[in-house]
Amino acid sequence: MTYENSLEFALQLDQQDEIAGYRNKFHIPVIDGKETIYFTGNSLGLQPKSTIDYINTELQDWAKWGVEGHFHAKNPWFAYHEMFAEPIAKIVGAQPREVVVMNNLTVNLNLLLVSFYRPTKERYKIICEAKAFPSDQYALEMQVKNAGFNPDEAIVEIAPREGNRTIHHNDIITAIKEAGDSLACVMIGGVNYFTGQVFDMKSITTAAHEVGANCGFDLAHAAGNIKLQLHEWNVDFACWCSYKYLNSGPGGVSGIYVHERHCDNTDLPRFAGWWGQEKETRFLMEKGFKPMKSAEAWQMSNAPVLTMAAHKAAIDIFDEVGMVKLLEKQKQLSGYLEFIIDDINASLASSDKSLEIITPRDWKERGCQVSVIAHGYGKDLFDKLTTEGVITDWREPNAIRIAPVPLYNSFNDIFRFGEILKKSL
Ligand SMILES: *Cc1c(COP(=O)(O)O)cnc(C)c1O
Repeated sequence: MTYENSLEFALQLDQQDEIAGYRNKFHIPVIDGKETIYFTGNSLGLQPKSTIDYINTELQDWAKWGVEGHFHAKNPWFAYHEMFAEPIAKIVGAQPREVVVMNNLTVNLNLLLVSFYRPTKERYKIICEAKAFPSDQYALEMQVKNAGFNPDEAIVEIAPREGNRTIHHNDIITAIKEAGDSLACVMIGGVNYFTGQVFDMKSITTAAHEVGANCGFDLAHAAGNIKLQLHEWNVDFACWCSYKYLNSGPGGVSGIYVHERHCDNTDLPRFAGWWGQEKETRFLMEKGFKPMKSAEAWQMSNAPVLTMAAHKAAIDIFDEVGMVKLLEKQKQLSGYLEFIIDDINASLASSDKSLEIITPRDWKERGCQVSVIAHGYGKDLFDKLTTEGVITDWREPNAIRIAPVPLYNSFNDIFRFGEILKKSL
């Protein structure tokens, strides 16, 4: 598409946008009486207007039924998590029994590593991307230590080449081949949180399997943002959070995926609790853990219904729109944002000041997020944007992450952002 940096053009795109009406289903934050331009759906997605009703339903059923709500609530709590299997499977490209929602993200990452990072003296390495999200780094470090290995030897980090911002795909594959028989597991973010780079999960998984290693992904920045086909790609395991692109509220419940071949393997080592026990014997309170043959086997506790109600409100919206339409608009939004930033950059005559887009320019290698290094600028640029009502994310010393999301951002948001950015530079 050929874009134009004009209000008319942006409004025209909004008019042609089939899913523009979904913006009205969300609360857009208002600061000083003015609706903000909210570009941080990659950090905390906005609240659906329906969330309050979903949570209220559970509060009312709790008031009405007490413990009996486990069976008599409108959505019986003992099976609450089961309502997510179908719609979540569509979002991540899985079979319904391969997914479950439970706990929080880093907790789930640790639980999955317990099952899928099983180092031996010969095969003990784990590959991840350099500068992974800190929580993932800490989880990997301590999993390696707990297994009795040295993180400096066991963790292999793949970094961008000298002078590059993003990771060369071939370098990941080469590292997997080089580690060979010593590789136990690959665990990479599906979308890098800083650069917005999407990794080729299919070929990474294939390469890992070729050397006999497991392969999993942290999809915190991928779920609800890019096209995922976890089952088809043969991915072993994955986890994600629901509060970023999935709009399910601060600290919202996380999701996991485990390929069905592992769901069928009841001998797989794992941590356990009663909610992972076969349904037939779960309430007999007997000795002997017999895991369910689904991702539910990794559940330990009963469902946190109140945060899951918020998740349900958001997932029902996703299910209604469908990922196909979201992905189509996402591609156009990030393309338009890229165009606007390039256009503004071209007008910056001075050579020591520029806006460098570090997110891949090929739409297949990015999702909503566009990350920019503002050369020659400091945090005052970000502060100016914020004062003007633009909510973005700033990382020291000069990086700005901007994520227009298809559910509630408009092309006009992007045009207005451009005008404000021009003024603030
Ligand atoms: C957001 C994010 C987290 C946050 O973890 P929580 O356990 O939800 O606090 C972890 N890892 C990645 C890659 C993230 O993007």
